[in-house]
Amino acid sequence: MALLIVFVSGMAVLLGAHRLYSHRSYKATFLLRLLVVLWHTVSSQNCLWVWVRDHRQHHKYSDTDADPHNARRGFFFSHIGWLMVRKHPAVFEAGRKVDMSDIEADWLVMFQKKYNKNGVPEHLVAEPDPEDKVFNQDEALLMEDKRTDSKKMAASLITAKDRSKEKQG
Ligand SMILES: [Zn+2]
Repeated sequence: MALLIVFVSGMAVLLGAHRLYSHRSYKATFLLRLLVVLWHTVSSQNCLWVWVRDHRQHHKYSDTDADPHNARRGFFFSHIGWLMVRKHPAVFEAGRKVDMSDIEADWLVMFQKKYNKNGVPEHLVAEPDPEDKVFNQDEALLMEDKRTDSKKMAASLITAKDRSKEKQG
């Protein structure tokens, strides 16, 4: 039974996340897409949106710093290690440029993205730590973006204040 689950969820990644969603190699009916999304969730390999983004990025920037699993960083890194360490800044940078519009048009994928936060359902692995905000790198990235945005805003406010002071003085 366990082997069957591994096999079917593996197929969902191979034929679903990879051939169907990342490369659009074939068209799928709603039922097949539903099965792919469900079994991809079972595979615990992030949500489909993140999987597809990482994979498209991998093909586009193959073996460069912007490749999320850059093979030049060694066998271990390119297979498992890349999921355990913080992403290279170039990966963040390039990740923002990947066209995901076709994926975002599929509500099944977006539904999974919304509710499947860390790939592995946390309660199955360990008690989630509410303080551990960095666990999900993509969420951490969004938080970072917001922080730099507010820093920039604060900086521009300060210069605006200085300018108005200069005018007065
Ligand atoms: Zn591929």
